[in-house]
Parts: sequence; structure tokens; C-alpha cells
Amino acid sequence: MEVRNCKNCGRLFNYIGGTYRNLCPVCIDALEDKFQEVKKYVEDNPRCSMNEITEAMDVSPRQIEKWVREERLCFADDSPIGIACESCGKMIKSGRFCDACKNAMANQMNNLYNAVHHTTDAERIRSKGNKMHFLDKE
Ligand SMILES: [Zn+2]
Ligand SMILES: [Zn+2]
Repeated sequence: MEVRNCKNCGRLFNYIGGTYRNLCPVCIDALEDKFQEVKKYVEDNPRCSMNEITEAMDVSPRQIEKWVREERLCFADDSPIGIACESCGKMIKSGRFCDACKNAMANQMNNLYNAVHHTTDAERIRSKGNKMHFLDKE
């Protein structure tokens, strides 16, 4: 069993892992309550600004951004609030990357996949060639 200090209140707690790794159960509960409040506030005020939320809800912009990155909190398309794509800095409404970067990454993955397969094929052919060469010698 691992005991840690809560990052928020300093209390010692039994570390169990999970999303809020550095918080004690009391602070996790409080944060969850806060999340529900913020979520409701955003739903009721779809065009509110980041300042309005942080002031009304007494929560830091960083915490709000974290929820957005986790895709737990979503803003309406016409909301003034957005967070920056982690790759190109374009404003997005949720997650970590904009659609263009997501597509580019998917393509990169495909290219990588193809490249790996080409190498494998080339090597297979080469090793086959070596074997034949070897057999020829026998
Ligand atoms: Zn705590
Ligand atoms: Zn992007």
C-alpha cells in the first residue's frame, strides 16, 4: 500500500491510481462535484466566456482546459471558448488536436505501417534470394 500527500489539501491518503492520481478521495469528490456544476453551467450558458466560468464557478482555467482535453467538457460550436490544438495551435472545442492534425497523424500512421511492411517484404525477398544463392552453391 502506498501513501501519498494530497496535492490539493496536503492530507495523507492511500494511493489507488486513476485520473486524479495526486488527490485524496475527499478532494476527488469535491472536484467531481465541481465538474458537474461547471458542466451544468456551460450547458445553461453555451455562449459564456472562459472568464465568466472561472469567476462564477471559482475554478482555474487550467482545470477547465484539463476537462476539455479529457473530452469530458465540450463547448458549443458558437461558444467563444476554445483550446489550442497541441500540434498547430488552432482553436478546437475538445480533445487535444484539431481535425486536420488528427487526419495528418492518421496518415502518418498509415505511412509508417506501409513502410514497415515494405521493409519486411524487401527483407523477405532478400533472405529468400540468399537462401537460393546458398542452395545453388551446395
Ligand atoms: Zn485532498
Ligand atoms: Zn492542429
